[in-house]
Amino acid sequence: MGSKKLHNTNSAIKINTGVSKPCALNTIAANKYKSFNRRYLSVDEYTSGILRGDRAILSKAITLIESSLLDHQANAQELIKSCLPYAGNSIRIGITGVPGVGKSTFIEAMGKFLIKNGRKIAVLAIDPSSSKTNGSILGDKTRMEELSKESNAFIRPTPSSGSLGGVARKTRESIILCEAAGFDTIIVETVGVGQSETEVHSMVDFFLLLMLAGAGDELQGIKRGIMEMADAIIIHKADGDNINRAQLSLSEIKNAIHLFHPSESGWITTADHCSSLTNDGIDRIWKTILEYINVTKSNNFFFKHRTSQSLRVFHQALNQKMIGLMYEQSSFKRKIKQKEEEVSNGKQSAYTAAQELFEMFVKEISV
Ligand code: GDP
Repeated sequence: MGSKKLHNTNSAIKINTGVSKPCALNTIAANKYKSFNRRYLSVDEYTSGILRGDRAILSKAITLIESSLLDHQANAQELIKSCLPYAGNSIRIGITGVPGVGKSTFIEAMGKFLIKNGRKIAVLAIDPSSSKTNGSILGDKTRMEELSKESNAFIRPTPSSGSLGGVARKTRESIILCEAAGFDTIIVETVGVGQSETEVHSMVDFFLLLMLAGAGDELQGIKRGIMEMADAIIIHKADGDNINRAQLSLSEIKNAIHLFHPSESGWITTADHCSSLTNDGIDRIWKTILEYINVTKSNNFFFKHRTSQSLRVFHQALNQKMIGLMYEQSSFKRKIKQKEEEVSNGKQSAYTAAQELFEMFVKEISV
């Protein structure tokens, strides 16, 4: 059959001259996205993007904060400075509990509830151990899937590497940027192991501990100190067959709370139970948080607490700089090594060695 015949307009199997198939990707958008992601923004561009609540720019700005490149760090500091006047106007909530207690499910349920109530939620995380699992805590796509689709939510996976101190710093700075971007509720999640709770506690207004109802082991899995840090202790997964056990655990927790030292905030730790599957109790917990904010704002603890948190960070940073000044000086590295040997060999006491070295250092920098 010749092609002439196929092109016969009277034929039922007419074939028109083809047009080339368009690319499956929207190339204009894809190129724009690529070049946006590759392009360096100026600090002014970052600032104006953040202030108008652009989540893509906010995300890129947090990446800048997380970068260890020196020029990125300089820009990041400038950016934080320009965002600072617009920050601070949020409720900062820390959430902790052992892995599996349901933190991300709870954050999703609470987040959706708050968005329905007109709030804007940013979720950040501290999990220094995630460097081993490449930032799994929030990196896993199935976590908070529904919340992440909300336009009034911003979910940032954990920085995938760094020491606890480094990750904590990045989270503190990210809080500033999120607040400047208009997020009025900041949730910082931590895994309930190690030191990260203390760090999170030192950067939030309200600290919430999630626990599971269990065979009398409530007080074992979590260190007592962490329970005492909590402004609210929640028995989670209080649904189905678990409700009775949750109620029992709740009364045990309430008894334990009586023995806590009174807090400087004037707030007495509350206990409740909730379910993120049925949403029972989510609204009560939010009410408790608002009550806490009310109480601590009216007795001025809220502001005093934020000031002391900032001052603590300032002194930590200053200490680190001071220590760095001595330890990173090449001439001193040798002297430190020498003193180490003298202490190891029992030639000098640790205190005398430190005192002598310190005096040498003071002399050197005062010349
Ligand atoms: P995380 O490791 O603390 O973040 O815990 P996840 O949020 O990943 O939850 C761990 C498991 O507990 C998941 O299988 C959830 O479906 C389940 N879970 C979370 N919240 C609830 C709840 O309120 N009730 C019940 N029954 N299961 C829950």
